[in-house]
Amino acid sequence: MSEIAQSSGFYRRRVGDVVVTALNDGAFNLPLGAMLGIEPDAASALLQEAFRPPAPRTSVNAFLVQGNGATVLIDTGAGNAMGPTLGHLQARLAAAGVTPGDVDAVLMTHLHVDHVGGLASTAGTAVFPKAELVIPQNEADFWLNEANAAAAPDDKKPSFAGAEAAVAPYRSRLRLFSGTDVAPGIQAYPLPGHTPGHTGYLVASGDAALLIWGDVLHFQDVQSRRPEVGMVFDTDPDEATRSRLRALDMAARDRLTVAGMHLHFPAFSHVAKRAESYALVPDAWSGTV
Ligand SMILES: [Zn+2]
Repeated sequence: MSEIAQSSGFYRRRVGDVVVTALNDGAFNLPLGAMLGIEPDAASALLQEAFRPPAPRTSVNAFLVQGNGATVLIDTGAGNAMGPTLGHLQARLAAAGVTPGDVDAVLMTHLHVDHVGGLASTAGTAVFPKAELVIPQNEADFWLNEANAAAAPDDKKPSFAGAEAAVAPYRSRLRLFSGTDVAPGIQAYPLPGHTPGHTGYLVASGDAALLIWGDVLHFQDVQSRRPEVGMVFDTDPDEATRSRLRALDMAARDRLTVAGMHLHFPAFSHVAKRAESYALVPDAWSGTV
């Protein structure tokens, strides 16, 4: 039987005076071997325990932040780069009543293709006609670098080319940042390791806060239980693990709500500390924001 589409694929949540909308770009499968530091059988057992399908499947999400007089998109999904199970961001935005021309700025957590793929059309034009593109300086230094691209092994070269092509139509309105103040009400929270400049964004308004943590977890049912488990795409798996532990620990300790590009949609969650691991507690659905 062919797949039947779900209704909307967007979900709003309030953070103080700001509205954050999760936008589901789709989902894709990876082999069990994409996880580092765990035997496939053990990963499989954790997925089964969480009632997940045997083939590891992960959501791809982006987040729209509306408040403080601006509409800011964080990441853009995969666009046309990874096949038909992904690339639904534009339809989600439209369903949420937002046009690409409404987006004032696009912030990137990092430059992997499932995050930058939605920036440019197949013709190479900017999908977001007036948005400033905002990238962590150290992330740009790594990926938008001819010497690094030339030195990369063959299987990594497409990642460099993809990042370059996605950024190209925004060259005249590109902002590279270091430090924490990125946009009104949005602070950068560096979480290096998955990529050199991988960065989360902390959205704060009044007493409320939300950490949009990028790719801290790819397979939440495995990595929350075994936070030392990394991904073959991590540029520095040990550093990625340290960042993952820091983010999980802070979220649990401060009861900080998190949102993730690869958490199960709608991807807003709480984090609880267990004896040797963590548990993700999904935010309950709310009909109004
Ligand atoms: Zn990703």
